Amino acid sequence: MNLSQARDALAAARRVAVLTGAGISAESGIPTFRDAQQGLWARFRPEDLASPDAYHRDPALVWEWYAGRYRDVMAATPNAGHDRLARLEREKGDGFFLATQNVDGLHARAGSGTLGGQLVELHGNLITARCEVCGQVEALPAPEGFTPPPVCSRCSGRMRPNIVWFGEFLPEDALEAASDAFAAADVALIIGTSGVVYPAAGLAFETLGRGGTVIEINPSETELTPHLSFSLRETASRGLAALNGG
Ligand SMILES: [Zn+2]
Repeated sequence: MNLSQARDALAAARRVAVLTGAGISAESGIPTFRDAQQGLWARFRPEDLASPDAYHRDPALVWEWYAGRYRDVMAATPNAGHDRLARLEREKGDGFFLATQNVDGLHARAGSGTLGGQLVELHGNLITARCEVCGQVEALPAPEGFTPPPVCSRCSGRMRPNIVWFGEFLPEDALEAASDAFAAADVALIIGTSGVVYPAAGLAFETLGRGGTVIEINPSETELTPHLSFSLRETASRGLAALNGG
């Protein structure tokens, strides 16, 4: 498949499933977990800040870390790649499904999930918290006025970061929705993710196995590349521009 065939396939597709990873947020300047681990935080291992054990041991420390990451993402804005996917959702309506491995909440802030299609954040997000008692999910207050931990407005229970931590499973309903959408997709896009990170490869093969087209957008070759219908060696925003609208 060449670029013009890939464009045609995407334009004609009734059902489109998309998976995004860190690559799409790079252009918004979102620091990675590792980038953010500077100064005071450098002495911690990631699992000392992002695991159920760490939270049980020292909830104030873990919340302080997540409050910092929340400030980082709220200081950033969605980029042209996020906007392109929001526009694609508007075009495809309920035939559009977007799963992301990112926790920065930028797809939601770009409008994804509210334009007729569905957005699933496989690893949760930094911009909401979840009640440890009743499970209620609520947006965090604006970063300036935020002192953790947040308290549930329904039951006054303590809330935890709404993130899937090391040692926790991805939410089953989210995975199932993603797997169904990729199996049903005429065209799937795999954007800015290495393909090694679960569940990228599995989702791509769901689409390929049913005869669908899978297009990758990634500046580097990945382990998935040899298996896919077409690969664009581009950043997310440039690759999406080339595929959908120029
Ligand atoms: Zn509650």
